[in-house]
Amino acid sequence: MNEKVKIKTQLVKYGKKIAARKLVVGPGGNISARLAEVVYMKASGIAFEEADESDYIGVELHTGKVVEGDLKPTCEIEMHLACYLIREDVSAVVHTHPPLATAVAMSGGSLKAFTPDFAALVGPEVPVVEYVIPAGKELAEAVKQVVREHNGVLLANHGLLTVGANLKEAYYRTLLIEDACKSLLAAKVLGKMRFFTPEQMRQIIGLEAERYRKSLLKSESPKEGL
Ligand SMILES: [Zn+2]
Repeated sequence: MNEKVKIKTQLVKYGKKIAARKLVVGPGGNISARLAEVVYMKASGIAFEEADESDYIGVELHTGKVVEGDLKPTCEIEMHLACYLIREDVSAVVHTHPPLATAVAMSGGSLKAFTPDFAALVGPEVPVVEYVIPAGKELAEAVKQVVREHNGVLLANHGLLTVGANLKEAYYRTLLIEDACKSLLAAKVLGKMRFFTPEQMRQIIGLEAERYRKSLLKSESPKEGL
């Protein structure tokens, strides 16, 4: 399978996973993956569960010009391209509207690590950006400033964006963040919350077992159990 076909197959696959897990409803959200100077992304107005290979179109990384496909790119194109332009190690972007991450984003506070999985696979923190109208340069700029140093960003009154070395990594980061938000909300009801200290973060990052799991997440292996 050539690289282009592989990337489109992966986009369709992860798009269907996102729909099945209800991380977005209807035509909301969008995902993209980079292949050299071309970024493949979902076309505007297409629901993930209905999207096939032809609904993922190629745009030029630096100009946003459509170079493959007849459809219009997602209106969040600027936000996607900004992530690739600010971080060379990013090859996939997942933008969804998960209910619990959206609720946490609305509260305005950033999400800090409190489990080993989150700390090792997402990082110490997922900051939140203030609400700005979607689909414009302003949102792209705000997201870019966070993605420069973080693997996820909560979008107030909107949703979530994660980045990764491939779609698998960006997708799992989305799941980990949504799951953490579920625990956070439960912890708030119970009344007690403990986040990792910098020292606890350092211990986790140094664990050999976590390094191995991280390398699996970045691999193209068809196995998905971690
Ligand atoms: Zn959105």
